[in-house]
Amino acid sequence: MFKFQVRVGLGLTPFQQYFRYIVAAAFIGRETGDEYPGYTFYSYCEKFHMKFIKEILGVHCKASNVACRAELGRLPLWAKISFSCIKFLEHLLTSENTLVFKNFQATKNFNPWAKKLYSIFNSLGFSYIAESNCSIKALLPNIKQRLIDQCTQEQSSKIYSSTKLKFYQHFYDFNCRSAYVDILRNKTERSILCKIRLSAHNLAIERGRHLGLHTSDRICTICKTGDVEDESHFLFKCEKYSNYRRSFQCNILSILQKNHLSENQMLKFCMNSNSLKVLRVTCSYINNCLTLRNEIIQYS
Ligand SMILES: [Zn+2]
Repeated sequence: MFKFQVRVGLGLTPFQQYFRYIVAAAFIGRETGDEYPGYTFYSYCEKFHMKFIKEILGVHCKASNVACRAELGRLPLWAKISFSCIKFLEHLLTSENTLVFKNFQATKNFNPWAKKLYSIFNSLGFSYIAESNCSIKALLPNIKQRLIDQCTQEQSSKIYSSTKLKFYQHFYDFNCRSAYVDILRNKTERSILCKIRLSAHNLAIERGRHLGLHTSDRICTICKTGDVEDESHFLFKCEKYSNYRRSFQCNILSILQKNHLSENQMLKFCMNSNSLKVLRVTCSYINNCLTLRNEIIQYS
């Protein structure tokens, strides 16, 4: 009974079921033209995957896709789908004397599915697989690792070259998902921290980007000192929030039992902390400052 439930997807969470469907979809697809089988359906799934991730993080739909995936330690779905297709190809090539094997052998030179798979082998540096008919099974662990490395590398280069993610570059760790997404169970708190980390907020640095202003013109309208209103100014410099800041810094120093921390040290410690207490104090400070900011804007 249990095996039956697993096979048909009963007893799985909706996300696990959905994930199973999209991997299966890679094998279905259209068989005409040069289109990658399952691609149309796959692209919808990738969009749904992103919506799901952004819902968990509590950020708006325009937040950076690559940074959202990095926060949760996820890779694009195509990596999982590609690997499943490669495993299926291995199964196919070892099922000699079957109708499906004969059909594949007869059509493999113009079959778009096979073409796509061999182009994936090329991009991963396994082009000799197509030429030498060597065993794919023995290479599966290497192929899987190469897929993960390629996706992670692509993700890191996108994050480090993005001007929008300058603040996030301080905390990004390609090795693991961010600790706060598991520790902060409250979605509002998770959302407050994530919006600041990913620059998915309404500070002048972001608002000015949408208005096409030069970085130096995105100044803080709250303190009117002429400083650019970026995340560092908001968290550590803007004088309007100095009362909240003093109590925040005292709380953090007392938790750490230290007398002093530089801005940089405090920033990294608070944003990357795996302590619920520290994360809550940080979220509460950001939330208080944002509430005050909204009030000032509303009544000015
Ligand atoms: Zn200011």
